[in-house]
Amino acid sequence: MAEILARSNVPVLCFHQLREFRADDSAYARTLITPPDVFRNQLLAIRDGGWTPVSAPDLIDHLRFGTPLPERALLLSFDDGSATHATVALPVLAELGFPAVFFPMTVVLDKPDWLSRDQLRELERAGMTIGAHTWDHQRLDRISGDQWPQQLDQPAADLAEILGHPVDLMAYPYGVWSPETLAHVAAAGYRAAFQLADATDPDYPMLTIRRVMPPPTWDGPALLGHLDADF
Ligand SMILES: [Zn+2]
Repeated sequence: MAEILARSNVPVLCFHQLREFRADDSAYARTLITPPDVFRNQLLAIRDGGWTPVSAPDLIDHLRFGTPLPERALLLSFDDGSATHATVALPVLAELGFPAVFFPMTVVLDKPDWLSRDQLRELERAGMTIGAHTWDHQRLDRISGDQWPQQLDQPAADLAEILGHPVDLMAYPYGVWSPETLAHVAAAGYRAAFQLADATDPDYPMLTIRRVMPPPTWDGPALLGHLDADF
């Protein structure tokens, strides 16, 4: 555990919707929206700043086993399952040769403005990783009983059926977890789970991997400063 904790300094960034702001977007919604040109500039800054995005499996092997990563490695992640992950993020990622991990809620798949099952397969064929983000985005510190299999086991099974192989990564809705959550996540077979701003739990570092959400107000230099300062 101490070795994993010592290696837990690889930045992980978390994005949500990649689109222009609309007049009716609330202040909170705007923290989850990155306009496409801002997104592209943030990724260009990552490249030009000498950072190398790596895949989620490579990061996990590094954390667990010490498998080396490139200098200044980081991981890009995308939560919730917005269709813009395929229409806006994927072309930029493909252009720059960047891998990433996507965590869709399964309730939204094939609905308007959300990823389709075909798009999940398309993302994977392009070298991306797919993980789970529960069924319908409940806070996992507030659920009980048969909600655990609904929110943890069934999404992994559904994604495995769509992709044709096991899915064993997940991200916590709202980044929120509790000690009881970790026990259920481990029992459901996930080998790694991503949160947001809390400190990595020294006893469960693989199930409490930290991320930051780059706000759209961060230009390239601001993003690079946070990569150095926040991890
Ligand atoms: Zn989410």
